[in-house]
Amino acid sequence: MGKEITLAVIIVGDDSASRVYVDGKKRDCAEIGIKSEEHALSADTTEQELLALIDSLNARSDVDGILVQLPLPKHINAQNVIMRIDHQKDVDAFHPINVGKIMVGNFSFLPCTPAGVMELIKESGVSIEGKECVVVGRSNIVGKPQAMLLLHENGTVTICHSRTKNLADVCRRADILVVAVGKSRFITADMVKDGAVVIDVGMNREDGKLCGDVDFESVKEKAFAITPVPGGVGPMTRAILMRNTVTAAKLR
Ligand code: NDP
Repeated sequence: MGKEITLAVIIVGDDSASRVYVDGKKRDCAEIGIKSEEHALSADTTEQELLALIDSLNARSDVDGILVQLPLPKHINAQNVIMRIDHQKDVDAFHPINVGKIMVGNFSFLPCTPAGVMELIKESGVSIEGKECVVVGRSNIVGKPQAMLLLHENGTVTICHSRTKNLADVCRRADILVVAVGKSRFITADMVKDGAVVIDVGMNREDGKLCGDVDFESVKEKAFAITPVPGGVGPMTRAILMRNTVTAAKLR
């Protein structure tokens, strides 16, 4: 019999969206035979208590992956927490060692959402090499690593953010447009080139309904391929987390 693979998931507080994500990850683990171990801590847990838990999970030989569900309560410094996770168990690939490895193109894990986006682009059949790739958003968990992965595949990459001038013009240049802004229907059809591949990372709640950053109905008429929300990047992100957990187990 092969080795059992274990993912430890830490959730602090009672954020309802975080609870949904953690439950989804536990379901995914169960579906593919990974053992998940939930550590649910109260919202008043101190940073020291959380770091001590991470130390104990780092030390356990039966734990392959450690994931701390973000966001954390305001009194806890998320960067300190991420830094404390053994980088070989860092299945989110947020630890600076893993971030640095992505920069130099020699990585063990890729961050789940950008890696999922890369799979979706590959699935569209469109080659990235030499293409104009525009990433809207520059967060550490999506935009920046996304740009780096597209660059590794020889795309010509532009990163946009809230200070970008003439955003619509820049977006219209994109053969591949990845949007991670966090604003419902932010990208409209007039901002999209005919035949573009459009990847919508956004997950926004509107009247209780999940919707993306792209105005799907109008943009789908122009795009060669477009991801829906829900049902696009989200499930791919979850799948990559499972892949990273298996990788972590293999690495050890
Ligand atoms: P952040 O809030 O960390 O980053 C948002 C980015 O959008 C920032 O770089 C910001 O620019 C930029 N931005 C904001 N307003 C504008 C504007 N008017 N024009 C251009 N750029 C703008 O968000 P995340 O990266 O964490 O997430 C983005 C979205 O993706 C959210 O909806 C989130 O829920 C979703 N998400 C989905 C995941 C999935 O699995 N599907 C996983 C992770 C996130 P600046 O830096 O200048 O402030």
